[in-house]
Amino acid sequence: ELSNRMAVRAVDIIKMLMKQGMMLKINDIIDTDTAELVATEFGHTVKRVSESDVEEGFIDAEDHDDDTVVRPPVVAVMGHVDHGKTSLLDALRKADVAAGEAGGITQHIGAYQVRLPAGEKVTFLDTPGHAAFSAMRARGANVTDIVVLVVAADDGVMPQTIEAINHARAAKTPLIVAVNKMDKHEANPQRIINELLQHEVVVESLGGDTQIIEVSAKTGLGLDNLIEALLLQAEVLDLRANPDRTAEGVVIEAKLDKGRGPVATVLVKRGTLKRGDIVVAGSSWGRVRALINERNEQLAEAGPSEPVEILGLDGAPDPGDTLAVVENDARAREITEYRQRLRREKMVAPVGAVSLTDMMSKLQDKKLKELPLIIKSDVQGSTEAIIGSLDKLATDEVRARIIHSGAGAITESDVQLAKGSNSPIIGFNVRASKQARDLAEREGVEIRYYAIIYDLIDDIKGVLSGMLAPIQ
Ligand code: GDP
Repeated sequence: ELSNRMAVRAVDIIKMLMKQGMMLKINDIIDTDTAELVATEFGHTVKRVSESDVEEGFIDAEDHDDDTVVRPPVVAVMGHVDHGKTSLLDALRKADVAAGEAGGITQHIGAYQVRLPAGEKVTFLDTPGHAAFSAMRARGANVTDIVVLVVAADDGVMPQTIEAINHARAAKTPLIVAVNKMDKHEANPQRIINELLQHEVVVESLGGDTQIIEVSAKTGLGLDNLIEALLLQAEVLDLRANPDRTAEGVVIEAKLDKGRGPVATVLVKRGTLKRGDIVVAGSSWGRVRALINERNEQLAEAGPSEPVEILGLDGAPDPGDTLAVVENDARAREITEYRQRLRREKMVAPVGAVSLTDMMSKLQDKKLKELPLIIKSDVQGSTEAIIGSLDKLATDEVRARIIHSGAGAITESDVQLAKGSNSPIIGFNVRASKQARDLAEREGVEIRYYAIIYDLIDDIKGVLSGMLAPIQ
C-alpha cells in the first residue's frame, strides 16, 4: 500500500528497510514511525492523520484558555475490600438533587453524575476498586481527576489501601481520604492518620496537603463534608475543557446488549458529543443513535465530564479506548479498518514496551535517572530486605524507585500499574497468575523471576550502572 501510494517499487522499500535491519515481507505491517522514515527517505512529506485533521480545521490541536469552561471533577473510589467503597458510592448518589424526582432509580453504566443544590456537578466512576482505574491508565487513558481513598475506621490501612495509594501516586492523581464507618464504636481515626503517614500520605492536620474526612456511608455522616472537600480539590486543580468543539472521550465500559446491540459508556473529556455524530472508538465506529444517561434519560448531547451510554457502534470497544468524532463515514471506516487490520495481524509491537533491556538503552541516553520497579515477593520480610538492599545501591545519580511492592502473587493489577508507570516487575519466590501473564504479554510488560536475592540485586546493580556511564 505504501509503495502504491508513493509510486515506488515494493522491492525498493523492502531493500531500504533491510539496510535498517528490518526483514519484512511485502504484506507485513510496519509501524507509523517506520512508515514515516520510509516515506521521507523516498522524498515524500508525511502528514499524520491527526495533524491533517488539525490543518483542515476539523480538530483544534489544543484548547485556548479563553475557550474553556470549568468542568466537573471525575472521581474514583478506591480502598481495601469491605471498607465501604460500594456503600459510599450508593450513599453519594443520594446527594443528587434530582435523585428524589425519578424515584432514585438508576442503572449502572459505569459512572454517574451528582448535581448539587448550588449547581455544581461531580462525576463518580461507579466501578469501585483500582482494577478499572489502572486498566484505563494502562491504556493511556487517565480519566480520574481525584481519588477518594476509603479506609474503614475500625480496620485501618490494609494491603489494598496501600496498593490504591501507589496507583494514585503513579498516576499523579490527588487523594482525599474518607475514613468510613465512623458510626462504629471501635472507630479510631487517629490511628489511620498515623498509618497513612507511614506511607507518606500526610494529612492537613500534620502539615500535609491531603484532606481527610470522617464519614459513615451507613448513617450519611460527613458526606456533605466529603463533597465539599472534592469541590475544593477540584477548584485547586482548575479543571477546564472546551465544550465548543468536536468531542473526545474515553470508553469506560462496553457490552453487547441483546436488544440494543453494542453499547458503550463514554466519558466526554472535551467538546460536546451529539446525537448523530460519527464516532470512532477503538476499532469500532458508528453514528451515535442515542445518548442515554444513568437515569435512563435520552439526551441530545453530552459535555465535558459527562458519562453517557451511546448506541449505534458496530462493535463493543474496550474500556480505555478513546472515542473521537470524525467528519464522515469514509474517514471512520478508514481508521477502523486500519486498526482492525493491525489487531488481526498482531504485528503491533506493544506501545511503550517495558523491558529491562529497553530501559537500559533509554537510560544510556541519560534521560532517566531513576529505575522504576515493582517488587512482589512471597513474604513481606523479603520485600523489605530487597528494598533495603536496593536502597544501598542508590547514588547521587541513579537509584531504583519502587512504584509498588507487596507480598503475594503477581496480579493483573500489578501488570497494569507496571504498564502505566513504565516499570518492569520483579517477582521474588512468587509467580504471576495466568491472567497477569497474559496481560503482561499483551502489554509488553517484563516480569523477571528470582529465587536468590543476590542474583536480583546483582542484575539491578548492572542496570543501574548502565544508567551511570553513557558508553562513548
Ligand atoms: P466494599 O467492598 O469496599 O465495596 O465494601 P461494601 O460497601 O460492600 O461494605 C462492606 C460492609 O461494610 C457491608 O456490610 C456494609 O454494610 C458495611 N459498611 C459500609 N459502610 C459502612 C458504615 O459507614 N458503617 C457501618 N457500620 N458499616 C458499613
